[in-house]
Amino acid sequence: MEANIYQAIAGGKRLGIMGGTFDPIHYGHLVAAETARVEFDLDNVLFIPTGKPPHKLNHKITNAYERFAMVQMSIKNNKYFKVSNLEIEREGPTYTIDTLKILHELLPKQELYFITGTDALLDLLTWREADNIFKMAKIIGASRPGYDSRKFFAEITKRYPNIKDRIFELEVPALAISSTDIRARVKNKKSIRYLLPDEVRLYIKEHKLYQ
Ligand code: ATP
Ligand code: MG
Repeated sequence: MEANIYQAIAGGKRLGIMGGTFDPIHYGHLVAAETARVEFDLDNVLFIPTGKPPHKLNHKITNAYERFAMVQMSIKNNKYFKVSNLEIEREGPTYTIDTLKILHELLPKQELYFITGTDALLDLLTWREADNIFKMAKIIGASRPGYDSRKFFAEITKRYPNIKDRIFELEVPALAISSTDIRARVKNKKSIRYLLPDEVRLYIKEHKLYQ
């Protein structure tokens, strides 16, 4: 990982990990990360934009450099938030388990908390080495409007009876914002103001993204 980021978070005890395509980042991501930080007393939250997400290989994704830049400008005023190019720099599809292994090696004393929205929770069971993901990190399932997490919690406690103390539900102020909707709005010449930081909105305009 980038040396300066590693140094900045090395002293912490609990690290939040916010993975995502961030195509583009929006206030839903930021509110989820901030709520998790405070509720779980995380020392830092590391945003990790995906390289080529294995489950999104068919839709055209904005290049990693631009997605990274949008995350970077969104978090610069929060001293607890950092962004890493760890997944972007890797070739081919990136898997969460590999990222967790790298982070664990770099920061062996930190407890890792993987933050994800309730929409992605059910998918988690199908991710590569799901068992190991649950061993390496605690999971924070942030509520997301339109997605019910009950099915996930029923399923997961059936499969992993002892997992209760490693998976947490987090109530987040409901923001029915998605990157998909933002991309569609741009395409249809609708406003995206107040759905994401202004700087990101201007960046999208300047770089002619999502048209
Ligand atoms: P897309 O529509 O392209 O899938 P997205 O808005 O779902 O984009 P992602 O980059 O896929 O954004 O999401 C990264 C993480 O943030 C996921 O765990 C997702 O569940 C969570 N997340 C995204 N939007 C919200 C939101 N509005 N509230 C809470 N969590 C969210
Ligand atoms: Mg998504």
